Amino acid sequence: MLDRDNDLNAWDRDHFFHPSTHMGAHARGDLPRRVISGGEGVYITDSTGKRSLDAFAGLYCVNVGYGRTEIADAIAEQARELAYYHAYVGHGTEASITLARMIIERAPKNMSRVYFGLSGSDANETNIKLIWYYNNILNRPEKKKIISRWRGYHGSGVMTGSLTGLHAFHNAFDLPRAGVLHTEAPYYFHREDRSMSEEQFSAHCAAMLEEMILAEGPDTVAAFIGEPILGTGGIVPPPAGYWAAIQAVLKKYDILLVADEVVTGFGRLGTMFGSDHYGMEPDLITIAKGLTSAYAPLSGSIVSDRMWQVLVQGSDQLGPIGHGWTYSAHPICAAAGVANLKLIDELGLVANAAETGAYFRKSLADALTDHPNVGEVRGEGLVAAVEFVEDKDDRRFFDPARKIGPAVSAALLECGVIGRAMPQGDILGFAPPLCMTPSEADTVVAATVKAVAKALPRR
Ligand code: PLP
Repeated sequence: MLDRDNDLNAWDRDHFFHPSTHMGAHARGDLPRRVISGGEGVYITDSTGKRSLDAFAGLYCVNVGYGRTEIADAIAEQARELAYYHAYVGHGTEASITLARMIIERAPKNMSRVYFGLSGSDANETNIKLIWYYNNILNRPEKKKIISRWRGYHGSGVMTGSLTGLHAFHNAFDLPRAGVLHTEAPYYFHREDRSMSEEQFSAHCAAMLEEMILAEGPDTVAAFIGEPILGTGGIVPPPAGYWAAIQAVLKKYDILLVADEVVTGFGRLGTMFGSDHYGMEPDLITIAKGLTSAYAPLSGSIVSDRMWQVLVQGSDQLGPIGHGWTYSAHPICAAAGVANLKLIDELGLVANAAETGAYFRKSLADALTDHPNVGEVRGEGLVAAVEFVEDKDDRRFFDPARKIGPAVSAALLECGVIGRAMPQGDILGFAPPLCMTPSEADTVVAATVKAVAKALPRR
């Protein structure tokens, strides 16, 4: 007879190669195993029946919350009617065409077309190819390098893993590849010169960028990629004036801007797009997670009108673009996207991210700021972080070997709430579903206070 839990445990240990997991610890059975079996609203349930409030919305992606039958029904209906047809050579489905239209209606002005992929990583791979293609059409074969930021996260493919500026994603993979450069992270709390104001630090980041462009040669630099707010690198909103200062440099040297909105797209910051939130005027926007709230895998590269005009000229010279995947614009995923964007509007989730987000971040800050090991509480909309330090007065960080971030998130889980220990630094991240209510926010804050007290008792 099947002993469900024991068999699943054994099959998991012996056959499942998990992403972003310590392989040895998993194979030895040293990692806590958790089989997730259900979800409703902001809660998930595991196979033992334990419920947790998921204050990271999976991987900041289940934006409408779990268990939305409207999306499940749209997926089922599409699967019954037409499970698949490709999008090559001008083919489309009602779902994919409708979704493209809905995205452009919501996108910042001057955006023109959407190329559909399946993940944030593949959308950024598409962006890189489009940038190279664009400069070849314009007869600028040397203008190909892409500048990213330390602590940026843009995926874990070969080129997108290179764009990512986190050591764990480069280690032993021979990344970053040539042609990708990293500049200063807009991480005000970590600034070297603590006498700098936010504006001065933004000017410093822009000056470092310009120095890099001049050292490399402006004719060799094609694009700059950045998340409106650093996500996986620590959940760090930009310092005041950052995007204006950066964009002035990019304009001066005719360098394209890619806004990676995989996390911020479709409401996370309390505005439909992070680009609008921070006055960014990108040439390309990367979208994924919130596009379907992860009910089906779907991503997109939104191309600006300015770039589109050049790409169109290119096909007259070069023929059909030699870029495409079997599952580009998959109708089931597109149907999930249409239902999800409708739901975001109907439930007013963008406004809720702004309102409940402000309430949540203030409550978190009020409850934790006076703790001797809480260096900073920060965020925007419904994304927030608490950064822990060994000594607040001289901003001394903990030795990473002590793994303080993971200890706090483990204590939080014991209190019934999921937060994420961000991969670099002692940072507890929150990015709950955008439907979180103020009373659910209170639950998260109360659990966090308990978890911090347990992992970092006051002396
Ligand atoms: N870009 C950003 C800003 C992300 O946060 C992520 C994933 O977290 C990605 C790209 C990669 O997306 P995916 O994991 O779907 O490949």
